[in-house]
Amino acid sequence: MKLTTPLEHIKGVGPKTAQALSAAGLETVADALDFLPRAYDDYSAAVNIADLQPGKVTVRARCESISTRIVRRGLRITTAVLVDDSGKVKAVWFNQPYRESQLRSDAEFMFSGQFGMQYNSYQISNPSVELAKQTNSSDAQPTSGIHPVYKSIKNLRPKTVQDLLKNLRPIMEFLPETLPEHIVQRQKLVSRAEAVKFLHAPNSHEEIARGRERLAFEELFEMILAAQLNKQEQTKLTGWRIPFNQPVVKRFVEQLPFPLTNAQRRAAWQILQDLESEHPMNRLLQGDVGSGKTVVAGLVAAEVAQAGFQTAIMAPTEILAAQHAKTLDELLLPFGVSVALLTGHVKGAQRRQLLDNLANGNINVVVGTHALIQEKAVYHKLGFVVIDEQHRFGVKQRQALLQKADYMPHLLSMTATPIPRSLALTLYGELDISILDELPAGRQSIQTKIWSPASAPKLYETIDAEIAKGRQAYVICPLIDDNPDNDKKSVEAEYHKLAKTMFRHRRVGLLHGKLPPEEKAAVMQQFADGDIDMLVSTTVVEVGVNVPNATVMLIENADHFGLSQLHQLRGRVGRGQYQSFCHLMLSGHDKPSQRLREIEKSQDGFYLAEVDLKLRGPGEIYGRAQHGALNLKIASLSDTPLIARAQTEAERFVKEGQDLLQYNHLARAVSRYQRLTVLN
Ligand code: ADP
Ligand code: MG
Repeated sequence: MKLTTPLEHIKGVGPKTAQALSAAGLETVADALDFLPRAYDDYSAAVNIADLQPGKVTVRARCESISTRIVRRGLRITTAVLVDDSGKVKAVWFNQPYRESQLRSDAEFMFSGQFGMQYNSYQISNPSVELAKQTNSSDAQPTSGIHPVYKSIKNLRPKTVQDLLKNLRPIMEFLPETLPEHIVQRQKLVSRAEAVKFLHAPNSHEEIARGRERLAFEELFEMILAAQLNKQEQTKLTGWRIPFNQPVVKRFVEQLPFPLTNAQRRAAWQILQDLESEHPMNRLLQGDVGSGKTVVAGLVAAEVAQAGFQTAIMAPTEILAAQHAKTLDELLLPFGVSVALLTGHVKGAQRRQLLDNLANGNINVVVGTHALIQEKAVYHKLGFVVIDEQHRFGVKQRQALLQKADYMPHLLSMTATPIPRSLALTLYGELDISILDELPAGRQSIQTKIWSPASAPKLYETIDAEIAKGRQAYVICPLIDDNPDNDKKSVEAEYHKLAKTMFRHRRVGLLHGKLPPEEKAAVMQQFADGDIDMLVSTTVVEVGVNVPNATVMLIENADHFGLSQLHQLRGRVGRGQYQSFCHLMLSGHDKPSQRLREIEKSQDGFYLAEVDLKLRGPGEIYGRAQHGALNLKIASLSDTPLIARAQTEAERFVKEGQDLLQYNHLARAVSRYQRLTVLN
């Protein structure tokens, strides 16, 4: 038996089983060893049926009766009554009719599953089943009672997969080490062979923990090493040097209507220094909503233009692009810097003219959406690229924009979704990071409150009182049209309701992504000009929109939004001198979730991002499609201590100039990650 042996050559694997395994991506012995258990049943922790408490439980019992009924097409429910000396309990399986033949005997089995109230009765749901060991049997093999549970594979019984991995145990002893030996030693990790054996055939929970630690470390180490090597590669590229231009920077700062915050100064300084280097910058500017990232980008663009280079700023929505273009135009006009807006809706002669001016260098700064990366857009001397809300763009789009230059331009990514430190090290390890951790002076904190639907009339009164004072309000709904299938509110329905009843006497506006662009822009403009009191909108207003007179943010179905998104939405208010309010309306009368209570308490975007990461996991927040690196097999991106250890070793590996090619397996893993990350 070798790692490359096809599974169909393994004892007990017939053609049908092999086919099912192959459909799940398991072709060889190595694939099967990589198929790690998703959980463990601990049969040694069996309790009496009479003593069951809600939660994960294990019982040793006989099956008294069992039957299956077809509820509807595709749903068969098998119900059994389990008995031991202390009592009886119901067990229920979904679409596992074979349990009937398995359990029709007098033998004792171990059942392990979730015990709790379902459809008004207590039951164990979908328990795993294992023949109980006879205490007086001649089978003297010691057993820990801990059994691996594998993700179910279509058309295979769990036992088939368990047996397969049992049959592979001999080879687990001989797995070659895949990490550099000195790192295994220094980090006091178990060998790969031990780790794999510990996970598939554990003798104790301690072994499971040691096995996981080792494989998780390896996974993180590979990912961080890939990022570190990317970073090193970047320092080999040459780009344009843009010398620090003190007079321009000084004049820019002086003509601002406000002093820069210290955080803005620091970030601008870091960026301007990067630009002086002959290596292209690759920096991420993180700052909470309203921390003033656009001004920083504007300052840099001023200097870049004076040096004879163009700046391209890519924003995720047209609304935002238009707003940036306006802001930057005002900031940069005194410097004779020309700013243009390029979106899909600049058409015909106007578009041709704009593209001409871009190609001949008459335009210094171009702000736009995806239109910036279309093939027709040719740049003159593109020196500086800014990507706003970078997590909204895929790697390909970022690449496409960078490739518009003959030389690698300096790249600044900006995001208002604060990235927890653990993610910054793993997913964004090749970026330098500047943080705006300070809001401009005079900003008031936003009063945040959770409401239940019953108290809506009272809430509307307080909102109306704000409007009476001359302020404006946002009402955010998750849907555009009504969908009878769920309880989520739609902007269409809410808009008509509010405009016809409680807010009849106010000017109510409607905004969503399906409106024609001219109409969207017009509505947004009216709101910005104060000609609309209440804007009922989908989350299209989420990013970047800036209306300082708006002080009320009402989010309907708040429980349906992620924490980071709620924080973003809340950031649309509190942008001016007035006290602002964020109202989180629940969908029903359930108690608010922990997530909502966190956002009620805190206004620290970094803290909320950490909480979100713990509660939902990175895939939900940052999008799996964009970050192939998020498909981790075993490591957790919130395991900060292990990430720190992996980072130390990865940095050391690069600094010591270790030869990656000495480590076959590692080299392959690293190149896989490199392809997934930002700049490779
Ligand atoms: P972000 O993009 O980080 O959410 P913006 O750049 O849109 O923030 O800035 C938010 C608002 O704050 C804008 O109206 C901007 O003019 C203003 N602003 C930026 N920096 C400062 C500052 N240092 N002091 C006062 N106001 C500022
Ligand atoms: Mg912004």
